[in-house]
Amino acid sequence: MTIEIKNKPIELELCYGMREGEVIHISEVKSGILQNCLCPKCGTLLIAKKGDIRKHHFAHYNYENCQGAQETALHLLAKDILYQEKCVCLPHLPGTPATNIKSFDQVSLEVRELGLVFDALGYADNEKLAIEIKVTHEIDERKRQIVINHGIQMIEIDLSDYLSSEKNRPEIVEAVINSAPRYWINPLPAIEQKIESIDMINKATIAGFKLASGYSRKNSCNFESNKIFVLQPVENKSSANYQVSACGGYELLQLDMVDQPKLIEKLSTFTFPVEATLTVETAFQRNKCLPVVTDVNLI
Ligand SMILES: [Zn+2]
Repeated sequence: MTIEIKNKPIELELCYGMREGEVIHISEVKSGILQNCLCPKCGTLLIAKKGDIRKHHFAHYNYENCQGAQETALHLLAKDILYQEKCVCLPHLPGTPATNIKSFDQVSLEVRELGLVFDALGYADNEKLAIEIKVTHEIDERKRQIVINHGIQMIEIDLSDYLSSEKNRPEIVEAVINSAPRYWINPLPAIEQKIESIDMINKATIAGFKLASGYSRKNSCNFESNKIFVLQPVENKSSANYQVSACGGYELLQLDMVDQPKLIEKLSTFTFPVEATLTVETAFQRNKCLPVVTDVNLI
């Protein structure tokens, strides 16, 4: 007896369909053949299976060779959410609020620029943020390099954990805007924000420092990481879509520092935390302008 199913990729159950150009969830339809509900991937007719035994899902009515429909649907849904909601929570960077919601005047989808296709571009004042949705594939190295070289601010939102879930639209809205993991691909303006805040806290409380080195398998080279940690008062920064309800104390700002024996020697004599003045310069590293601490002096 041969088991045919063995070599067939396991297809995820489809919990989204397309109706009049919109992604709909299985919970929004009645059971049975649906006149105007199509597969987001192949565009053929779907049937809603809402029985008592298996979890509710869509199946192709008369077509079997469609793969990746759930992935396509989730990707489409996430982009539509960005288009409708016009805001996104930015990935956290030291020195920025823990919840940092960015609102846009306009969001465009599938934008072709620089020979690339961006999932979404959000525009606010004179700023532009590129947003990539990862369902199964993260952005490739070519795209990353072009984005960095052209100074385009970009984040990636990782929805891979939601692929096999059967979350409805409100749950995916929450994931896309707030709770799904997200990373900076190129955090240019945030870095500028960091430099500004450093200028203001020339006198600072240094909480500690750390020198580390290692070998990066990804880039096939040795790397060094020299960090200095500075306490910064938590600020009450509220905006139209983001409210700080209470705050107090300090948050930790992490800065690069130069690997200079004199500076390391000086830091080694401190008893932390310590009040000091910082000399901060900007250095061009990894195609970005970054603040680097070049000296510290006790007050
Ligand atoms: Zn299909």
